[in-house]
Amino acid sequence: MKAVAIQAMQPMQPIQPIQYDAIIIGAGLAGCSTAIQLAQRGHRVLLLEQQRYPTHKLCGEFLSVEVISSFERLGILGAVRAAGAVPIRHASVTTCTGQSFHSDLPGTALGLSRYALDLILIQRAAAVGATCRDGTAVTAVTGDLREGFTVTTRQEVFTARMVMGAYGKRSGLDRSLARPFVQHPSPFVASKAHYTGIDLPNVVELHAFPGGYCGLSQIEAGRINVCWIAHGQKMQAAGKGDRAQALSQNPVLAERLASMKCLTEASQSLSQISFALKGKFDQDIWMIGDTAGMIAPLCGDGMAMALRSAELAVPMATAFLQGQLEIQSLKRQYSHAWNHEFRTRLQLGRLMHYGFIEPAIAQIGVQLCRHIPALGDALIRATRGASHEPALAELG
Ligand SMILES: Cc1cc2nc3c(=O)[nH]c(=O)nc-3n(C[C@H](O)[C@H](O)[C@H](O)COP(=O)(O)OP(=O)(O)OC[C@H]3O[C@@H](n4cnc5c(N)ncnc54)[C@H](O)[C@@H]3O)c2cc1C
Repeated sequence: MKAVAIQAMQPMQPIQPIQYDAIIIGAGLAGCSTAIQLAQRGHRVLLLEQQRYPTHKLCGEFLSVEVISSFERLGILGAVRAAGAVPIRHASVTTCTGQSFHSDLPGTALGLSRYALDLILIQRAAAVGATCRDGTAVTAVTGDLREGFTVTTRQEVFTARMVMGAYGKRSGLDRSLARPFVQHPSPFVASKAHYTGIDLPNVVELHAFPGGYCGLSQIEAGRINVCWIAHGQKMQAAGKGDRAQALSQNPVLAERLASMKCLTEASQSLSQISFALKGKFDQDIWMIGDTAGMIAPLCGDGMAMALRSAELAVPMATAFLQGQLEIQSLKRQYSHAWNHEFRTRLQLGRLMHYGFIEPAIAQIGVQLCRHIPALGDALIRATRGASHEPALAELG
């Protein structure tokens, strides 16, 4: 892996009046793609990421069909291909009884680790002129869109005309902003790890177990990413306190897991995963990606949505920075565009998620899709955005 071409963490310094057009908190898909596009439009951008890159992140690592055109627009498709992204054209779903449904995806999706992808994205942001700092957690934000913002990290304080929250599904910042969803504990826990030992050419697999589901997706270097999400208590009850036993109640998944060897260096776990609807601006901070709302992982579309939400935000950000869009219109237009594009998809995804973790409902759902394959295909399409596939041939 190439060295990270971004600025290293600086020692503690006195406050400097550095003025940016935009400070973006979080260098995941939403944050990096916003930074790339704003920097390409000539804005002064600071991208702050709490983790040191490259790093493993909890994710199914299945990149939905729509991302290819986004990657091409961001200028990273070549780097994604060079990193060994694997084309995926089919989906296979199984229930706890081993009953299965197979479908063609509406185009070519990709499998690539977040370890590789997020590094490519942040390096691209740095290459097009954004100032990028990893190992730099934002601890506080004050100010507003009228007067500008002050952003505090453990090392330095920065100022900017706008701040974009791209810090993912949950962060300490949500609590300090008193965002309503953090008041409601979520029962969902998730875990992911990389495995070797089997080959899953061209297919993403989704296996239901009591209380949750587990995705298997091939990524670079012949690895399989195994990622599950579950209702913590239901999973505990199903496995009598043993998570592996809960997963193994699906015979297909049990067989897969028995045939593979876990590479523990990529293991990640997380709790409190919430699918609540969230504000698009909180205390004037502009929320993008999961920070504005997260789709259930069942849909495998969160990363594509994060990229798309950046594409919605960037032209409005430029108009605001150039004085062509006033604050209230900006908020109204973005919230309207976001709801128009994502709200129904999010609600459908949540409904499917809650159904799929209940073995009886998952069974009925898969049976229905077996009898009416068009229904399964329609659900797959309805939980993702429009795709333009200009460069599929490139990925073979
Ligand atoms: C179990 C599970 C499986 C999933 N599987 C898939 C899948 O297969 N396909 C798919 O498309 N989507 C999947 N998703 C969803 C997907 O991971 C997210 O939708 C996507 O990562 C959102 O991108 P983002 O840029 O909004 O946030 P993230 O990618 O989470 O990036 C946020 C960044 O902000 C940083 N950050 C947080 N707080 C701070 C701070 N205070 N200061 C600085 N930086 C900060 C974090 O370190 C992180 O790097 C899955 C989600 C879960 C929970």
